[in-house]
Amino acid sequence: MTDSVETARTAETGEAAETDRTGSAPAAHRPLAGQKALVTGGSSGIGQAVAIGLAAAGAAVAVNYHGDEDDAAGAVVETIRRDGGEAIAVQADVSDEAAVVAMFAETTSAFGRLDILVANAGIQRDAAIANMTLEEWQAVIGTNLTGQFLCVREAIRCYLAQGVAPLSRARGKIICMSSVHELIPWAGHVNYAASKGGIAQLVKTAAQEVAAQQIRVNGIAPGAIKTGINEQAWSSPEALDKLLKLIPYGRIGEPGDIARTAVWLASDDADYVTGTTIFVDGGMSLYPAFRDNG
Ligand code: NAD
Repeated sequence: MTDSVETARTAETGEAAETDRTGSAPAAHRPLAGQKALVTGGSSGIGQAVAIGLAAAGAAVAVNYHGDEDDAAGAVVETIRRDGGEAIAVQADVSDEAAVVAMFAETTSAFGRLDILVANAGIQRDAAIANMTLEEWQAVIGTNLTGQFLCVREAIRCYLAQGVAPLSRARGKIICMSSVHELIPWAGHVNYAASKGGIAQLVKTAAQEVAAQQIRVNGIAPGAIKTGINEQAWSSPEALDKLLKLIPYGRIGEPGDIARTAVWLASDDADYVTGTTIFVDGGMSLYPAFRDNG
């Protein structure tokens, strides 16, 4: 197990960790008991914490990884199993249609069904718009937006085919990892901001379309969360100081902040919630520059 797996587990499970390790947590702490989940980009950062969080809440989790991250995905699977949970690693590039179809087939073949998708995989390829190559644009749109479309589509197909869920009020749940940049423009990151803006409408439109089939689709818009994707924004004291000026709540987010939101959104406690994106950002989207009268 890596240090980062340990950190994410501690950050996510908090007081529930002791009971989870024994495999005998009370039902109240396991709102997803018996359910089956797939988390894309689950081998690092937010996806890793979400995978561990869903498992701590009782779900069996397929941990998707890209390319050669099988060691990292294996460490997440190992952590979940050691805590008494069920997990498998599934390889797929989410921007590749055939690979996504195969990943869902592998997951449902292993678990028998699917109840929860967390479409989390994402990348950044930053450049000023005047310098951005078509390749940089397409790489980010392909992973962040097309990748989420492909996974959302497969999850819906899967939920419709398998019928009523035995352990949840909804037939199936979908959570898309967006960003505060679905709302806040971000100079130097037009591909990323456009991909997340697209996710805002992917969530709302898909939710509207499949609500009558009892499928819930929601988003989470993280602010600045301490992961590898934004390491340059928190790894030096100067950078962190600059970042904190953008966060009214006064601290950088942890992957566990997002994982706890994902667990709640996937649970029946959120059964009447669909088509919503929850901003988990310490107030970053509250225009902090206007705090002192603008
Ligand atoms: P991360 O780099 O640790 O995680 C991204 C994951 O996506 C990695 O595991 C990576 O292997 C995977 N991935 C990339 N391309 C893939 C592909 N083609 N197929 C399958 N997997 C692929 O960073 P993170 O911060 O954990 O990011 C997770 C999500 O959260 C992303 O969608 C990101 O945009 C979003 N987000 C992060 C922050 C933040 O501050 N960290 C803020 C807002 C939104």
